[in-house]
Amino acid sequence: MAITDKIFGDMALLREMHKTTVKGNLLAWRRRYVQTRFGQSAVDRIAAELPAEVGAKLLNPPLAFSWQPIKDMMEIDRAIVLGPMRGDVSQMKQFGAEIGTADLSTVYKLLLRAAVTMEKFVDKAPATFDSYFQPGKGDGMLIAAGHARIAFKGCTLPYYLCSFGLPGWLEAVGKLTGTKGLRIQHDICCHRGHDHCAWDLFWL
Ligand SMILES: [Zn+2]
Repeated sequence: MAITDKIFGDMALLREMHKTTVKGNLLAWRRRYVQTRFGQSAVDRIAAELPAEVGAKLLNPPLAFSWQPIKDMMEIDRAIVLGPMRGDVSQMKQFGAEIGTADLSTVYKLLLRAAVTMEKFVDKAPATFDSYFQPGKGDGMLIAAGHARIAFKGCTLPYYLCSFGLPGWLEAVGKLTGTKGLRIQHDICCHRGHDHCAWDLFWL
């Protein structure tokens, strides 16, 4: 078990990763992000590099509430990292934060209104994970004051998502809940030989 690919992680897990489906709105986010950050020409360039049916999903994203094979999103994301992100996979963190900020101020407005603290959010987190990725089950628990762990079981996410996209998304949660000094550690990871991924959140 090792990170044999700097974007997808442990390539021995590729078959496991491909079992996942993702919500269509995550694909719509690819186009929006590349368009606003790098311009329409970058969208067109990436789409042209991809197999036609995958490129079509970038140009004309499927319905927001449909379930899509993660394989297509992974191919699009690899092209984004290798293209406009110039191979810097850590830029996926910023991307995740933008999705988190938008989602949390629209889709999860009601949830946030009820969960104004990180403690309450950790309690509600499972529901938010399930709405992006299937199969898989999220689980949040408070370990001590200012320390919680969120785990995602039954689903192997590609490395760039579990190690950059999701931490970025969680950082956005921290900002929107006014959590001070939030630090996210991702040591328990499928790509490091564990049977699931978990994120430790520390805050003041
Ligand atoms: Zn991981």
